[in-house]
Amino acid sequence: MCGELRAEHAGQNVVLMGWVNRRRDHGGLIFLDLRDRSGITQVVVDEKVGAAHDKADAARSEYVVAVKGHVRLRGAGLENPNMPTGAIEVVADELLLLNEAKTPPFSPAEEAIANEEVRLKYRYLDLRRTEMQKNFALRSRVAMAIRNYLVAEGFLEIETPFMTRSTPEGARDYLVPSRVHPGHFYALPQSPQIFKQILMISGFDRYFQVARCFRDEDLRADRQPEFTQIDLEMSFPQQDTIFRVTEGFLTAAFAAAGVALTTPFVRMTYDEAIRNYGIDKPDMRLPAMVTLTDVLTPELRTTLKIEQTLPVLGFVIPGVGELSGTARKALLSEVRAGFGDCGLDLLDIDRLEKAPEFESLARELQGKLLAQPIIDALESSGNIAVTIKGTPLMVVVTPKLGTPAMWNYDPQWIWKRVGALRLQLGAKFADKHGRFAQTGTAADFKFCWVTDFPMYEWDEETKLWNAAHHPFTSPHEDDILAGRLTSDKGAVRALAYDIVLNGTELGSGSIRIHRQDVQAEIFRSLGMTDAEAKERFGFFLDALEYGTPPHGGIALGLDRIVMILAGATSLREVIAFPKTAKAIDLMVDAPTEVSEQQLRDLHLKVRGRS
Ligand code: ASP
Repeated sequence: MCGELRAEHAGQNVVLMGWVNRRRDHGGLIFLDLRDRSGITQVVVDEKVGAAHDKADAARSEYVVAVKGHVRLRGAGLENPNMPTGAIEVVADELLLLNEAKTPPFSPAEEAIANEEVRLKYRYLDLRRTEMQKNFALRSRVAMAIRNYLVAEGFLEIETPFMTRSTPEGARDYLVPSRVHPGHFYALPQSPQIFKQILMISGFDRYFQVARCFRDEDLRADRQPEFTQIDLEMSFPQQDTIFRVTEGFLTAAFAAAGVALTTPFVRMTYDEAIRNYGIDKPDMRLPAMVTLTDVLTPELRTTLKIEQTLPVLGFVIPGVGELSGTARKALLSEVRAGFGDCGLDLLDIDRLEKAPEFESLARELQGKLLAQPIIDALESSGNIAVTIKGTPLMVVVTPKLGTPAMWNYDPQWIWKRVGALRLQLGAKFADKHGRFAQTGTAADFKFCWVTDFPMYEWDEETKLWNAAHHPFTSPHEDDILAGRLTSDKGAVRALAYDIVLNGTELGSGSIRIHRQDVQAEIFRSLGMTDAEAKERFGFFLDALEYGTPPHGGIALGLDRIVMILAGATSLREVIAFPKTAKAIDLMVDAPTEVSEQQLRDLHLKVRGRS
């Protein structure tokens, strides 16, 4: 292959085939950089080998050529240390032009191409680029490592249908009209959820699938209408069993990319995540929030016009350094403007420090902020090391008099708002603290499990409780026994968990309901009548009655895992033929209109365009 030749091959006869990456004409000598997926070799064609030289003369970028020749060391001083094959070149005896190429709209030899639309339209050229070739080689290795790990753990890979009926992940379905059954539609699966549960009822014990999922959602930068999950389900598991298997396959996947992870990952409950990070997907590369509520005594609150009963929270952003007076003022007003009229305010510790009556308060706040008890606790669990170097930025947020305890029915809004500020300032000062920089080691990857999610989410628009994960998730036994499914839905915890990496949700799963009566009860609690539940999920409720083992599982986004390992910033860099933010495939130009005949066959009529 073009990327494999080294100094030790000097003198050998070789045949190389590939694409002309670049061509340089030095008159008597023509240099062709020949590229295949393994790399690039410099080929020299001397005018003395007349026929080959004529062909090299005609060759252009992206022509497909075959070269017969011998490997020669480049002369002293002519080596290229930046190329793995930089010590040698191939001297051509024969050259074949296997195919020509039109002048490409961009050269795959270029490293960065600004216009992504052009890249997607000519995806075949874009995929020739070294970076893309690397991404897909990585993707293949990562997927294979995961498969190997799971198979060794006794999992069976079983395929589930693409043409099925609506599944319950809560997004809009992609529909496939039936020709044979007028007016009937299949839905593409939002996930294999119900099938994998049925496979447990069928006694397969451990299932996995590298599964394609389809969700018709409004696309954001990091979403695709079809994406791939590592989907698995186990019978008779403890939550811990699922964590161990997931940590195991992630370790195998990261090892395939040269990163050695340490397990077990940090665990925290949803409530702990909200209280310490203000979010259910904590980015643990930055120190946690610190609760300062007790430092502000009732007297101090009165003097400083702080609401008596609400929390006071703070955090530090490490390594920001001393801010100039102007920079500090600008930051204060930026944050205050961001708070708007929600009632929260920043406490200016620097000013407090200068006022004799508040100096000791300032010292105490600073001491608490820097002590970081939660970080110490996490550090001792071995998975995380956050140390505070340089002058940190210290932020303390207080509720002004009259701040509401609830905002949009959410009693945790203050924690969440301060958590959002922590992330905002973390991003703003990323260059200073350097914690988001990639070092290529395990330290770049802060994993954690978040457990005990709330079972229900209140939807203000529909005035209904929705399943926060999906309706097959088991509530905590205690919450069922205490009757909270009917009396206090907001307090019901689910046996649901997320795996989070660097502030991104990589996947989620749960222990499922395996009793038919509990499942029916949950459907009811979600506002579904028994008739509706029967109509949508009757087959599943039936199946549950034939000896269902306790079971649970998880699904992780493969595209996202590969994107992170490739150091890419978009899923489109690791999906061979992705769609744009408008859900269009620019290469094949899909979706398209179809013929009248096709519509008629499917018993469809287009109602017009919106
Ligand atoms: N089906 C769920 C999802 O796609 C994952 C799971 O519960 O296993 O989010």
